[in-house]
Amino acid sequence: MTTLDPANVKGTATVALRAPRRRLPLPLRRRAPALDAVGPAVAPLLVAHRAAHPGGDEAALLRGYEVAERLHRGQFRKSGAPYITHPLAVAMILAGLGMDTTTLVAALLHDTVEDTPYTLDELRADFGDEIAVLVDGVTKLDGGRWGDRAEAETFRKIVLAAADDLRVLVVKLADRLHNLRTLGFQPPHKRRRIAKASHELLVPFAERLGIHALKREMDDLAFAASDPEAHAVTGRAVRAALAGAEAAFGPALARLRPSLARHDITGRVTIRASHLYAVHRALEGDVAGLRPCEAARLLVVVDGTDQDCYVALGAVHAALHPIPGQVRDFIALPKDNMYRSLHTRVITPDGDAVEVIIRTRAMHPVAEYGIVEHIRSAGPAGTVTGRRDLVWLSRLLAWQSGAPSAEFLDGLRADLAEGTVAVLTPSGELITLPEGATALDFAYALGTATGGRSIGALVNGRLAPLSAELRSGNVVEVITDPEGVPSAEWLDYAVTAAPRVHVQRWLAGRRTEEAADAGRRRLVRALADRRLDLLAVEAHGDSLAVARELGYAEIDEMYAAVGVGTLRLDDLLAHFTRP
Ligand code: MN
Repeated sequence: MTTLDPANVKGTATVALRAPRRRLPLPLRRRAPALDAVGPAVAPLLVAHRAAHPGGDEAALLRGYEVAERLHRGQFRKSGAPYITHPLAVAMILAGLGMDTTTLVAALLHDTVEDTPYTLDELRADFGDEIAVLVDGVTKLDGGRWGDRAEAETFRKIVLAAADDLRVLVVKLADRLHNLRTLGFQPPHKRRRIAKASHELLVPFAERLGIHALKREMDDLAFAASDPEAHAVTGRAVRAALAGAEAAFGPALARLRPSLARHDITGRVTIRASHLYAVHRALEGDVAGLRPCEAARLLVVVDGTDQDCYVALGAVHAALHPIPGQVRDFIALPKDNMYRSLHTRVITPDGDAVEVIIRTRAMHPVAEYGIVEHIRSAGPAGTVTGRRDLVWLSRLLAWQSGAPSAEFLDGLRADLAEGTVAVLTPSGELITLPEGATALDFAYALGTATGGRSIGALVNGRLAPLSAELRSGNVVEVITDPEGVPSAEWLDYAVTAAPRVHVQRWLAGRRTEEAADAGRRRLVRALADRRLDLLAVEAHGDSLAVARELGYAEIDEMYAAVGVGTLRLDDLLAHFTRP
C-alpha cells in the first residue's frame, strides 16, 4: 500500500478550506453606521475591520456588540473590567488578522452561550447558522454534566467543528491569546494550568494552522506564566544580544548583499529576532552570554518566483560558507501547515553559525499567518482559491471517533507534539509523523485498513519490523496481509493515537467475542440438560427477544454478560425455559 486512500479511513472527511458559505441573513444588513454615532468602545473594532474589509458588514458587527454587551452587563473579568472587554479584545485580535465579519461577530458573542442565559437556539435565530456553528464550536461543555470528561470532549467538539469550518480554531486561539494576555489577574495555580494547557494543545494548533504570529505571542505568554524567572532571564539575554546584532551581522551582510545582486536577485535582507521561548528551548535554558546569531536569523525575502529562491540560495552559499547537511527545502516539500521557504545554515566571517531563511514575497504572509492568509484570500462566498487539504486534521478526525475521552486528549497531545519526522511513500507522498514514530504509525497514517493488516515494512527498500523507528527522508512501504489483525504488543511501540485507539478497540472487541463464546457454550450445555437445542431457539428468533427483554442490543452482548458473569446463567435460563 503506497497511497492514502481516503475511502479506507473511517469517518474521514477531506478537510478543505472554505470561503464563508453565506453572507449574513438579510435583516442584519444595514447601512454602515457613521463612526461618531457608535460607542467609543466599539469604534476601534470598526476601524480595524474597515482597514482589512472596506465592504464589511459593520451593522452586523454593531449588532453583535450590542447583544453581547447587554448579555454580559453586570459581569466582570478578574481584572475588574466589564466582561465585554474580553470578547471585544478577541474580536480586535481577529480584526487585526484581517478575518471576515462573520468571524468577528462570532468572537463578540463567543462567551454568551457559555456564561449568560442566552441559548444557542436564540443565537441561531438572531444571527444565523454560520455564527451559531462558530460560537457552539468554542463553547465549553458543562463540567457539571460531563465531569472529568468535559475538557477532552470540549476539545473533541472544537476539532469536529473545525472540520466544517476552520475559523472555529482561529476564534479559539484568539480567545486563548487574550486570556493569556490577562493571565496576571488569575491566581498562580490557575495561571500555571492555563499556561501548561496552552503549550500542550493551543500552541501546537496554532503551529499546525501556520499562524506563527499568534503562536509566538502565546508561546512567550505561557512561558512567562509557567516559569517567570527563566522568562525574565531569557528576555534580558535576548535584548542584550540583539543590541549588538547590527554590528555582529554587519560583515555577513556586507558579503551577502553584493552576492545577491551579482545573481540578479532583488529583495530585502533583514535580521529577524527569535521569540523568547524558542531561544530558551534551543539552548535548554542556558542563555548566559547569548550571542546575536543565537537570538536572531537572517531573512531574505526575494522579489520574484520560487525559482529565484534557489538562485538566492546559491548566492548565499557563494557569499558565506554553508554548513553541510543543513539545507531544508520547504518549497519542494511544504510543511503540513503550508509553510514554504528554504532554510540553510552558514558560517559568518566571524566564524559564527547563523540560520538563513529564503522566501518569495508571496510566501511571506502564508509563513506568518498560515491558514488565516488562505481564509483571507478565499474571496467572496462560493469561490475558493488557495484550496489545500490539511492532512493532519483528516487523520485526527479519522482516529478520534474511536477514542474514549481520556485517550482522546493523550492522543491529541501526542499527535500535536513538536518535532516531526517527514517520511515518504514510494510514490513520493510526504507523511509527517511525531518524533519517534515507527513503521506501525506510518502504516496507520495511510488508513486503519492498511495499519490494521500491516505485518512489516520496507524502509529504504530494506525489510524492517513494524517497531522500526523512522527518520526524516526514509522511503517507507507497508507490507500487509489480507488476513492480518492487530496485536497487543503494538501498544508497546505505537507513538501516534491512530494505532493506539484502533488496537485498544480491537482488543476490547475480541474480549467481548471470547466472553460471548464462553457464555454461549455454558448456555448450550444448560439447555441440553433440559433437552432444549439453543440453535433451534436462536433460529426461532427467541434469543434476540430475550436479549432485548434483558436490555441488550445484541445476542452476543447477552452471551458475553454470561461469559464474564454480569448476567447469571440461572436468570437467563428462566427466560428460555418458561412455558
Ligand atoms: Mn472567552
